[in-house]
Amino acid sequence: MNRLCLPLSLDWEDWFQLCCPPYDAPDALDHFECRLPLATERALELCAELGASATWFCLGDQARRHPGLVRRLAESGHRIGLHGLTHRRVYELGRSAFRVALKDGKALLEDLSGQAVVSHRAPEWSLRGPAQDWWEELGEAGFLCDSSRAPLALMGDPGWPRRAHRLPGGLWELPPPVLWSGPFRCPLWGWGLRVLPFGLLRRALEDRAASGAGTPLVLHPWELDEGQPPLPSAGLGHRFAHGAGLKGHTDRLRELWAGFTLVSLESWIQGQ
Ligand SMILES: [Zn+2]
Repeated sequence: MNRLCLPLSLDWEDWFQLCCPPYDAPDALDHFECRLPLATERALELCAELGASATWFCLGDQARRHPGLVRRLAESGHRIGLHGLTHRRVYELGRSAFRVALKDGKALLEDLSGQAVVSHRAPEWSLRGPAQDWWEELGEAGFLCDSSRAPLALMGDPGWPRRAHRLPGGLWELPPPVLWSGPFRCPLWGWGLRVLPFGLLRRALEDRAASGAGTPLVLHPWELDEGQPPLPSAGLGHRFAHGAGLKGHTDRLRELWAGFTLVSLESWIQGQ
């Protein structure tokens, strides 16, 4: 069967986990409604309907709270990757704390899932700015793949490659997909995937699959949870990026992703 293939990733975090106060405070998980189990079920159902296997970038703090869910993801045929011990920007941690988080997070998730954890994505694409070279720590820590370097001005660097590539030392970098160029460049995930015209998105995904771009689809389980409360405090930009186009998004994705072979990042790399 000759089907178009795309890598699929999910960032396994709850609906309120933005990288800004009060959502990234150490006790935030105690203060906001926990909806991750429900959203995880919906995402698992969608993957099953589409015959998809994916890489789930998991947070250490959520994995400790929901160890059974991490096991379930692994038992359902998905791969587990690391999204940090907590949902804080990497460059705010400092390089040595990042190194420790890689080691501890990998060990924790490997323990829970019974899998080798070899993929990494920094919260909010934060291997940027002062941390733009810290991917060098990943190879040292036993990772084979990163997906944290967004070719976008606000979240990374528009000069970074827009296709999967290897960094010095051999680490695979699978950047998230973006649309267009210059000031109009926008993410092909999150709000971009929820509000842009269907036909345009479908053509963009077909192009990337046909050319073997290796740019992973990105989904947060909370994007499938229409019943989530509004963020209690957030600026206009955050409100838009988080809430725009949530209604009916599951049906839209079902249609948008139909016909593609959706695989984990690890599987996609293996096929190269
Ligand atoms: Zn995240």
